Order: sequence, then structure tokens, then C-alpha cells
Amino acid sequence: MKILNLIKNLSLADCPLCHETAEKNGLCKACWADILALHETRPVCPVCAEPNASGAVCGACLKNPPNFDALYAAFRYEEPFVTLVHRWKYQAALPYSGTISALIKLVLPKLPPQSPFDCVMSVPPSAQRLIEHGFDHTAILANAVAKQLDLPIISPKLIERQHRVPQASLNRKQRMSNLKNSFSVHGNVADKHILLIDDVATTGSTLNELSGCLKKNGAKAVSAVVLSRRYKDER
Ligand SMILES: [Zn+2]
Ligand SMILES: [Zn+2]
Repeated sequence: MKILNLIKNLSLADCPLCHETAEKNGLCKACWADILALHETRPVCPVCAEPNASGAVCGACLKNPPNFDALYAAFRYEEPFVTLVHRWKYQAALPYSGTISALIKLVLPKLPPQSPFDCVMSVPPSAQRLIEHGFDHTAILANAVAKQLDLPIISPKLIERQHRVPQASLNRKQRMSNLKNSFSVHGNVADKHILLIDDVATTGSTLNELSGCLKKNGAKAVSAVVLSRRYKDER
């Protein structure tokens, strides 16, 4: 019986959000439409993707530029997106990967039409986190993006991430010091414009730390794509 339930869950015949019949990309029509309605259409800072009135580079980025050059995000961090991403990430719901991969592709029209990128790379989990989650969820996103943009991928195995306290439990300042020197690069990234992929950016500290590490190793530029960017008033 248990096996039958497992097969039923894996088949994704039901929408994981409401248990109606799944159609497009593993969700039912209504839930897919709910997520598409979260598409960010406000003007944003082209560096940190935080919304502002003019769509110009924001004061925070002018005063203190992050190590990455541009950040692109598709969705507002609201329901039902939050539930879907949490289940996929924390309940190791690997079958949702098709849905999430379809969602990350919706960020790509925001990228410059003449692709300046040399390769795609995912923000890797630490070895311990990989065991906890059961799969490298960001690598799945990076594969979907690389395939869509026809770009080579840098293996996440070439980036080592030391295990640290989960970022979610920390404030902005603690997040930055928690991540300090947590990445090391073992591959050749010299003179490359790297497109970094992550699921959700909260303060951007992880992307910032890894971008700094890539640039120290000679990367020419680092842009980043995330499914969602949490904004200051949502943290
Ligand atoms: Zn549904
Ligand atoms: Zn900014």
C-alpha cells in the first residue's frame, strides 16, 4: 500500500498545491496561474533587483556595490510560490523539479538579449546540507537554465562550500559574517562572465560572498538569476 501511495505521489497526477488534476508543468491550471500572477513587473534596481520608483541603480548599490554585477528575479516571494519552493527544497520533493525548472526559465526573458555569459553555475550546498536535502536543488535549476541558453555549465563539484549555521536563522549582519570565506573555487573561472543560479535571494549575502570568491579567482563578471528575491519589507 505504501509503495502504491509513493508511486501515486511521484506520478504528480495531482497538483501538489491543491490536489486538483495537474496539467501544465505539474500544477493545476489555477495554481499555475496563481504563481504566474506573482511575476515581478515593478521597476527594479538592475544590480540588486530591489524595486524602486525609477528602475535606476539604487542608493544602496551606488554606496556599497555588491560583488555581483546584476541580479535577475522573476517572482514575488508570496503564496503559493513559497509553499511550492519549501516543499521542493526541504521535503526533498524531487518530482517538483520539473515545475520549478519551468519557473526559472521565466526569469530568462529579463536577461540581456545578446547573452554576455560564458557559463552557468549553481550556488552549491555544503556537503552536510546535500545529505539533509537529499539532492542538489540549485544544480537542477542551473541545468535547466544552461540548456535553455545553450551555455556550458561549471560543475558544482568545483566549488567547495563549508558548512555553516543556516542563513535563515540569522539577521543581515550575521549572514554576512557567517558566510565569510565559506566558498573555495577549484576550477578555472578566469576571464569568464558567470551566470550564477540560486533559488531565493533574501539579503543577497550568499550570492555576494560567492561572487566575491569567483572574482578573486579571476572571473570577469558575475550575474545572478534567482526564482525570487525577497524584499526588505518581507524579511
Ligand atoms: Zn493546484
Ligand atoms: Zn540596488
